[in-house]
Amino acid sequence: MALHKVTRGEATLHDDAYTTPLSERPLPKYRLPDSPADPRAVYDLVSSELLLDGNAAQNLATFCTTWSDEETHRLMDLCLGKNMIDKDEYPQTAAIESRCVHMLADLWNSPEGAGTMGCSTTGSSEAAMLGGLALKWRWRRRRQEDGKPTDRPNLVCGPVQVCWEKFARYFDVELRQVPLERDATGLRPHQLRDYVDENTIGVVAILGVTYTCDFEPVADLAEELDAIHAETGLDVPIHVDAASGGFVAPFVQPDLLWDFRLERVASINTSGHKYGLAPLGVGWVVWRSADLLPKDLIFDVSYLGGEMPTFALNFSRPGGEIVAQYYTMLRLGREGYRRVQQACLDTARSLADQIAKMGPFELLYDGEGALPAVSYTLADPDPGFTLYDLSEQLRTRGWQVPSYPLPPDRQETVVQRVLIRHGIGRDEAALLAEDIRRCLDRLHRGGGAEPRPGFHH
Ligand SMILES: *Cc1c(COP(=O)(O)O)cnc(C)c1O
Repeated sequence: MALHKVTRGEATLHDDAYTTPLSERPLPKYRLPDSPADPRAVYDLVSSELLLDGNAAQNLATFCTTWSDEETHRLMDLCLGKNMIDKDEYPQTAAIESRCVHMLADLWNSPEGAGTMGCSTTGSSEAAMLGGLALKWRWRRRRQEDGKPTDRPNLVCGPVQVCWEKFARYFDVELRQVPLERDATGLRPHQLRDYVDENTIGVVAILGVTYTCDFEPVADLAEELDAIHAETGLDVPIHVDAASGGFVAPFVQPDLLWDFRLERVASINTSGHKYGLAPLGVGWVVWRSADLLPKDLIFDVSYLGGEMPTFALNFSRPGGEIVAQYYTMLRLGREGYRRVQQACLDTARSLADQIAKMGPFELLYDGEGALPAVSYTLADPDPGFTLYDLSEQLRTRGWQVPSYPLPPDRQETVVQRVLIRHGIGRDEAALLAEDIRRCLDRLHRGGGAEPRPGFHH
């Protein structure tokens, strides 16, 4: 009997999950079992199954944080029963949410950080929906006041994340996606003129393009829209999708103009669970000033006891992520976030150097000036293998490195992307580089497994 079982007191062989009736056949998959089972045995069996998932720390495909500390786990535990929508029952969680909104408004240089409107969401996707809805409502009101038709709203953007395609489809807005120019990593200002018109509810600028990890030039986009405004009278607001960049740029590039310092920026979203380093399930949206969030999008809910204004797609939602976000903000402060993001950027730069030297790759984004990440393509379009082959080879060592085509008009270009997040250090990046080299060797030789001389003995 294992020692740790003895400490449970009356330990029996039944404490061993693998000798219980439950483990004598595959776990139920289609029908709820008739009777209850021992929680520890179920825990052991379910956690064994989870081992088949990829290893989160080697998932270099995700922008979401896979790092957490002990205190975050403890706070999440404390909050397990707290529903953030019950603002009357859990007034401190509500107060903490509001503090995070104001701190973000201030971080993003809102002219009235203490008086701005904003809220938490389940992530940037929901935040984008809310930001887009406010744009649509304001545009519609302006049109109605002018006695003009309101049936054909459009949203102009570059290579956006799928959440904006969802927003457009779910809320009946035409998505005008500006094609990528041949050597571009995002939307370029001079392209705007051909796409904005009187039905444009807004332009989405991306701080951290999903495909390439580069920042779109928000200040130049704003300047172009200022010029269009002066020439044509069209006054088009910007929403910045800063899902990743919202927690990176303010710390490592404080002089980069992308936020509320630009008058044309009406709202900004970010994912707390990406570079904000909060656990999965939290995003944020903030408006530059309270008047930019139309009142008729806000619901006053009275049945929880007390009148509470809410603006969200969801109702019930866990409070723990919000509390953990606040903890992380207090724990790190500006200097802490700066050090974390700078370390990630330095690691990305060193990986980019190694990848550039390998030969077959051409860097698309080298980790300098935007997100801590590297993206690259094959310099020779047909070296006898594809980036998809390389992704698959890397997977045999547990690395998850995605390959995918760029959006139109660069869809013929396949790229591979590595994201560096808190918790991925120089050593891990060097080990990845070594594995990339090894996989390249193998692919050059035809892709088979390496001979293992000692294997049979
Ligand atoms: C990740 C991401 C989203 C979606 O955010 P979630 O928090 O996953 O919902 C939207 N836009 C961009 C640019 C992103 O990187």
